[in-house]
Amino acid sequence: MPLRDDQIRRYARQLVMRDFTGAAQECLLKSRVLVYGEGPPMDLCVLYLAAAGVGDIHLSGVRPSVLDLIWRAAALNPDCRVHEGGRGLRPDYVIDFAQDAGPGAARRAAGALRAGLPYLKVLRAAGAAIMKRWREGDPCPGCVLNAAGLKQTDLLNPGETSVSGPAAAAFATLELAGLGVPTHNALLMDADKGAYRELAATPLPECIMCAELADGR
Ligand SMILES: [Zn+2]
Repeated sequence: MPLRDDQIRRYARQLVMRDFTGAAQECLLKSRVLVYGEGPPMDLCVLYLAAAGVGDIHLSGVRPSVLDLIWRAAALNPDCRVHEGGRGLRPDYVIDFAQDAGPGAARRAAGALRAGLPYLKVLRAAGAAIMKRWREGDPCPGCVLNAAGLKQTDLLNPGETSVSGPAAAAFATLELAGLGVPTHNALLMDADKGAYRELAATPLPECIMCAELADGR
């Protein structure tokens, strides 16, 4: 269905971007994104996805109340519907904000890969954030964390890295609009500078989670 006049006005700022056509915007409007986890970056990610024109956003994972977020997203863009829970959903994209780089995260990555779903993971530590779009053959989240010089315990007290939310939304928006994956390398954000650099990650020798991730495919 072609864009209406009010939608052309609403998305004018991204429609002027090179390669971001009306067809790309229509892809976004038809897309369903599952957002897992909680925290300030997750909230910001949902609002940026809503503003970009993602049609349906499903929130899953542990959080006390999502009503405020649902209302804020609806006020921001009436084209976007935000839903609580993602049971039985076949999403077009999965974004995982859970502060977990252990077996649970490896299982979610494996499940998404097995189902052929794009899976983007965000992890936050003090002064740093990691973002990675997984693909077949990649190491487990724990090994990516290790490659950034961080440990699981560093995730317990995340610093001010909320910009990782809009960054994840921008990453997903480009892919959902059919404009490709910006990179499969892990992106490590320096919270002080607000800048990302790419990080090559390799499996640690004899890592059980890497083996499970490979077996899951
Ligand atoms: Zn591993």
